[in-house]
Amino acid sequence: MTTLKKPLYFCNECKKVVGHLDDLLFVDEYSLKGFCSEDCIEDFYFPLIKYYEVMESSLRKKLNLLDEAINQIVDQEMVEEVLSTPDEIYRQSNELHETYYNFIKHYSHSSVIVVTSVYRKEASFVFLTTRTSSKALINEFRTGEEVRDWFSSLNEEEVPTGMMSVSEEEFAAGMEEADADEDMIFLQLLESKKSKVLADILIKRKDNDIPFEDFSGYESCFQETLDQPDEVFETRDNEGDKLFHYIKSFSMGTRADESFFYIIICLKRNSDNATTNVYPILALPTIDMEMCQEFRTGTRLTGPLQN
Ligand SMILES: [Zn+2]
Repeated sequence: MTTLKKPLYFCNECKKVVGHLDDLLFVDEYSLKGFCSEDCIEDFYFPLIKYYEVMESSLRKKLNLLDEAINQIVDQEMVEEVLSTPDEIYRQSNELHETYYNFIKHYSHSSVIVVTSVYRKEASFVFLTTRTSSKALINEFRTGEEVRDWFSSLNEEEVPTGMMSVSEEEFAAGMEEADADEDMIFLQLLESKKSKVLADILIKRKDNDIPFEDFSGYESCFQETLDQPDEVFETRDNEGDKLFHYIKSFSMGTRADESFFYIIICLKRNSDNATTNVYPILALPTIDMEMCQEFRTGTRLTGPLQN
């Protein structure tokens, strides 16, 4: 059935259009690349497997380990053991929220390293496996942020590097009486708005602004900004949807250069009754006045909004 009324979803590798968001497979928790099949995932990431292969060879060459006298092959069973009972985990994210994990498990005479992406707290695509008894080589994989709470946080909904967003559960809880299909469509709209707003922010943000990894330290500002904003602006994006920008300034100390802004971008959802429902798309702290100014557009509102 051909219709332009439904949102468009397609495979990132073969570009095949699929009917629903559910028809896409994901390998990375926070990057929004979806695929129609396992084959397409493999085709898409194959160059990265090669990249890691070359990387490993050059590390081994550098450390004089090209002919390390152990069996470097890691079988599937061992990979699963490393992933389910690792001794160390390191996580490295980039500004696109693509995240790679290094899992390390130590055995009596050697250690096994597995580089993988993770989706919903499970390894989703393995880029590299290797075995070594060289401490120097293991050290090369101890990069990024060490994950110490992997098992204790398995059931928690983790927000990517402090970026606030609406989880499906939170969303569902607030929408009990509404129609499920409409909810799904709205949720998909929220997701697509989120990636657009994020892309826009990435282009405009300055290098010296608050780093993404520090965003989680500002989460306490979220509710306060929603409840008692300094300013709220109502605007329409270029798709004609109504957005609200909540802005509040916070000061950490007495000096002006220690203050920052917290900005929450919300999407308005029209409902049958007279209330205005507003859902957060994205929130960010910034010390950049110009970034803040980007969100001071549209009509400035004074009255409170129901969230
Ligand atoms: Zn495909």
